[in-house]
Amino acid sequence: MDFLRPDTLAEALALKAERPSAVPVAGGTDVMVELNFDHRRPDALLDLTRIAELREWSVSAGVVRLGAGVPYSRVITELGDRLPGLAMASRTVGSPQIRNRGTVGGNLGAASPAGDTHPVLLASDAVVEAVSARGARMIPATAFYLGAKRNALEPDELVAAVHLPETGAPQQFAKVGTRNAMVIAVCSFAISLHPGAGRVGAAVGSAAPTPRRAPAAEEFLSGELTATGRWESPTPLPDSVTRRFGELAARAASPIDDVRGSAAYRTHALAVLARRTLAWAWRDYTGKVA
Ligand SMILES: Cc1cc2nc3c(=O)[nH]c(=O)nc-3n(C[C@H](O)[C@H](O)[C@H](O)COP(=O)(O)OP(=O)(O)OC[C@H]3O[C@@H](n4cnc5c(N)ncnc54)[C@H](O)[C@@H]3O)c2cc1C
Repeated sequence: MDFLRPDTLAEALALKAERPSAVPVAGGTDVMVELNFDHRRPDALLDLTRIAELREWSVSAGVVRLGAGVPYSRVITELGDRLPGLAMASRTVGSPQIRNRGTVGGNLGAASPAGDTHPVLLASDAVVEAVSARGARMIPATAFYLGAKRNALEPDELVAAVHLPETGAPQQFAKVGTRNAMVIAVCSFAISLHPGAGRVGAAVGSAAPTPRRAPAAEEFLSGELTATGRWESPTPLPDSVTRRFGELAARAASPIDDVRGSAAYRTHALAVLARRTLAWAWRDYTGKVA
């Protein structure tokens, strides 16, 4: 197996164009597990860890450009105030060792339906910057997940960065697992309030072949908050609203029975997560506006 070690993104893209079958390695927390278990035996690995451009983040016109190689531990310490939802999801990933190595780019590359960052990226209107020797293209998160562990990248493309609007408004993420740490989600849920646009983003994880938005729940809650003037004068949400939001969020899923949980449990748990995360986000919003 060849081990390709580019120093720059341009070099990495030239190598990927030449050898599209080369498997990129960022933190290696997915790739190395697959190699150890002999689940794949690529003819080449493309090490991305020397590429400084991938480890940077910046802000421009209210949008954070997060380099694909920024590890979770840095998302937590450096971006908790700008990207609260992503930082929350990052805190739940694996263990300190995994968070020091693992990256959002790697989560996107793996495209597991259970990846923790995906619901947050969907709820917060993130856009994936894909690059190749042919140029760059922007892929909305909603178009990125094509199937279980399948994404929209072409064989010669890498994820360079993810672009996330800095909304300044509450975001929440929660997941259910069999214990508190080092756990793959049985199901997960993210909510992002977009008061400027009078809109709510909501997405489910680990409850369908791909992570996905919950459009009926989003429309219901956005309509409710606008019709009742609550964006301007936030008052506590009636139980009927949080319950309906939970029901509609759970309906976005098409869960299966597997070793981690039954479909019925996932549906129930998603409704609970949606209600809870909405209650937390709304409490934060009320505190901010009051
Ligand atoms: C013990 C353990 C616990 C874990 N817990 C969690 C958890 O709680 N939640 C969770 O979501 N995940 C978890 N994971 C999975 C893993 O840590 C995450 O998916 C992580 O985000 C992968 O990032 P990485 O940088 O290590 O990716 P890598 O392993 O380096 O790569 C993962 C995939 O992405 C591709 N890739 C990497 N970078 C790029 C790029 N820039 N462009 C294109 N493709 C790229 C690789 O080729 C590979 O297919 C866990 C893994 C382990 C071993």
